[in-house]
Amino acid sequence: MNNTKSADKQPRTGPNGKPVRPFIMPTSIAGKLGVWKYLILRRVTQLSTLVLFFGSAHWAWNFNEQPIISGNLSSSMLLGFIPLADPFAVLQILMTQNSLLTEVLTGALIVLTFYFIVGGRVWCSWVCPVNMITDLAGKIRKKLNIQNAVQLSRKFRYIMLALALVLSALSGVAAFEWISPISIFHREIIFGLGTGWAFLLGIFILDTFILKDGWCGYLCPLGAFYSIVGKFSFLRISFDSPSCTHCIECTKVCPEPQVLDLKLATHKGYISAGECTNCGRCIGVCPEDSLHFDLKWWIARNQQNNNLQIPSANEAENLTKKDPGRKAA
Ligand code: SF4
Ligand code: SF4
Repeated sequence: MNNTKSADKQPRTGPNGKPVRPFIMPTSIAGKLGVWKYLILRRVTQLSTLVLFFGSAHWAWNFNEQPIISGNLSSSMLLGFIPLADPFAVLQILMTQNSLLTEVLTGALIVLTFYFIVGGRVWCSWVCPVNMITDLAGKIRKKLNIQNAVQLSRKFRYIMLALALVLSALSGVAAFEWISPISIFHREIIFGLGTGWAFLLGIFILDTFILKDGWCGYLCPLGAFYSIVGKFSFLRISFDSPSCTHCIECTKVCPEPQVLDLKLATHKGYISAGECTNCGRCIGVCPEDSLHFDLKWWIARNQQNNNLQIPSANEAENLTKKDPGRKAA
């Protein structure tokens, strides 16, 4: 009986034998800033993007007599000579068989290259203004402990992606662009209040009361498109398996918890799922400092070096035969 009680008091240990520690929010400002740094940087990026569009449209912010940025989040011109275009919007237009300006195609290529490097869904968590609404909804539902009212597969977003392309081909117009909350948000901020806010309110209600991360995690076809890009991108969340205690604090804050497959991450050395948004939330809360931003090939090199240092089963057996006093690791 006593033995059972003392066993109960033993701290839970992770697969590495270390005690599992919970995440505790630091009390100091510097500590808090350390946890929130990526959140702060994301908000700065999202708001600066909107401010640049607003300043260029309303206050004539310019560079060399050209607006700093003109257009919208689907297609724009930076500094008067750098075209930028949403590759998914371009793909929809290609499906309509309408012709495209070379400038727009170049813009899409520039944007696509950028997201191949930094991570497809960096768009979602670092640039898309709708993310501010969905993050707020997530915070509220967590505070009020609201449970999901419906169940849906996260793969549903890929059906939405296919649907957007098929409807574009059938209707002759870029289908998602008509109802995109991203374009609506941009229009409302830059050109004033209008009926578009009702649609954005709908997303807020969906995410707060019906389905956690409902829009970004299950429905948005643009997020689905960038998840495919993200599968191949260079900047990843690296995972240091030996230090991890499987406390799952990272999973609790992740908007795409299914991507934190720690077994797969141990094998790869990084979070390999394209749905990871590179938001950095998991980095801030990991009590063991097991997660970081890193480049894929750099992680692979480190993994290789680590593997070289670990003898294979045969090598270990040979070493033991040569030196019988040696114990297997
Ligand atoms: S990686 Fe996740 S599970 Fe592992 S120690 Fe960090 S927060 Fe805990
Ligand atoms: S794994 Fe980390 S970076 Fe990726 S979505 Fe989850 S919390 Fe964000």
